[in-house]
Amino acid sequence: MNRTQVLIVGAGPTGLVLALWLAKQGVQVRIVDKTEEPGTTSRALAVQARTLELYRQLDLAETVVARGHRVPAVNMWVRGEKAARLPFEIVAEDLTPYAFLEIFPQDEHERLLIERLAGFGVTVERRTELVGFTEAGDGILARLRGPDGELVCEADYIAGCDGARSVVRETLGTGFPGGTYRQVFYVADVEAAGPAVDGELHVDLDEADFLAIFPLKGEGRARLIGTVRDARAEHPEDLKFEDVSARAIEHLKIEVTRVNWFSTYRVHHRVTDHFRKGRAFLLGDAAHIHSPAGGQGMNTGLGDAINLAWKLAAVLAGRAPDKLLDSYETERIAFARRLVATTDRVFSVATAEGRFAELVRTRIVPAVFPRAIALEPVRDYVFRTISQITLNYRGAPLSAGAAGEVRGGDRLPWVSVDGQDNYGPLSAIAWQVLVYGAAKPELTAWCAANGVPLHVQAWRPEHGEAGLAKDALYLLRPDTYVALADGSGAPAAALAHYFADRGLSPING
Ligand SMILES: Cc1cc2nc3c(=O)[nH]c(=O)nc-3n(C[C@H](O)[C@H](O)[C@H](O)COP(=O)(O)OP(=O)(O)OC[C@H]3O[C@@H](n4cnc5c(N)ncnc54)[C@H](O)[C@@H]3O)c2cc1C
Repeated sequence: MNRTQVLIVGAGPTGLVLALWLAKQGVQVRIVDKTEEPGTTSRALAVQARTLELYRQLDLAETVVARGHRVPAVNMWVRGEKAARLPFEIVAEDLTPYAFLEIFPQDEHERLLIERLAGFGVTVERRTELVGFTEAGDGILARLRGPDGELVCEADYIAGCDGARSVVRETLGTGFPGGTYRQVFYVADVEAAGPAVDGELHVDLDEADFLAIFPLKGEGRARLIGTVRDARAEHPEDLKFEDVSARAIEHLKIEVTRVNWFSTYRVHHRVTDHFRKGRAFLLGDAAHIHSPAGGQGMNTGLGDAINLAWKLAAVLAGRAPDKLLDSYETERIAFARRLVATTDRVFSVATAEGRFAELVRTRIVPAVFPRAIALEPVRDYVFRTISQITLNYRGAPLSAGAAGEVRGGDRLPWVSVDGQDNYGPLSAIAWQVLVYGAAKPELTAWCAANGVPLHVQAWRPEHGEAGLAKDALYLLRPDTYVALADGSGAPAAALAHYFADRGLSPING
């Protein structure tokens, strides 16, 4: 029998990121996957700006950006013509260092994560399947079926990153309520030519069947994502590219010369009832699934992993009570439910049938959309939502205070002045304090006494424009969200209360 601190079931993107963030924080992990080798198909393509911001903690952001493809704009097409174009740079240049949509195919993404994990001495144990587990006393006992037969693994915690058909979820009995779309999704990675194969994202609004073209790295390479319904959806396994290609050719004027990968799948919209039960956690597709149309699924799983990792590390090191782990569910289930509801609504409108729905898509949206996105608040809202930079944990037990427009639970606003930004400290996985302006001596003394890094940046008007308050303190948690925002003038007392009230230690591992 082997003992580890965290047994991670599933080496998809969620499990790999969890393993990386735990290993980086000195936690002993074991990661198993039932497959013989990592996935070889592109699947999830979009890496959202928020994920890239968080990826700075493991020095991954630059590599993802360098190896992937930056999409500068999204276009809407109606009746074979481009009806509107939304450039991301104009929208987001003041919001994030990653003012674009990053395309990085999932197979390459997983390979990069595996490569980095090897740097921590962790290898995915392949052909090793979780059969079941029980919780016993101060740990779990997991039954694994490996290449040499069955074995039992003992662990302090088990993390179910085992995808939509999760055995961990089945064992916990937390259900998977929701529904299944009647449309079948298809994906096709193609080599093609035409005005819509220009490195940008293109969405066709004409029909009730959704159709989008995502650019892939390399000249003339693109991913088509679409839906089909009616009789064709009844036997998706029989669908071929030829059955769905006519519309792309007609509406988006694509000439396909080669199909490298074609696949169909059914999509569900579901969220499990609990993300934590005792010593077991559910993350990624094991916990929530929805339409891939908004490019949110994989990114949400990665966010789950980064949210849970620092909490597990703190509890395992005795720097936080078990209760801290409850906040994983509180913070992430709320977001997953909202996300599933939103993607469901948007997808339902985009694919609604009937004359009225068609009128909305082909007349009203093309008329209203360009005017709406000419308004900065609308552009901001759309980008913030899709890029996940708007995601926050306001009102949750770990979030406290407000200073300027920033509240506990928020993502720290990004501010760039003369080419220098305020995100340097965010590459650390640690409690830290940020002040824009001057730090009071008592704050400096408290941080020194507690080993909490204090970063003071000279106040600039741009900080105020971004919603920060002069001389206030912003305590960041190890996943870089604002824990406490305080401008009360008694910073040492505010910090001491924050940690004491939650039984947390500010000491960084
Ligand atoms: C064809 C296709 C196209 C897609 N396109 C998009 C897209 O365009 N955009 C988007 O956002 N998402 C897309 N997705 C969804 C996206 O791939 C998932 O959201 C993402 O992979 C979820 O990551 P995960 O790590 O949570 O789960 P998964 O990637 O499903 O990984 C789960 C892992 O657990 C392993 N496992 C399962 N059970 C066990 C067990 N009992 N024991 C051991 N190991 C186990 C599996 O082998 C697998 O490796 C697509 C999916 C498919 C199939």
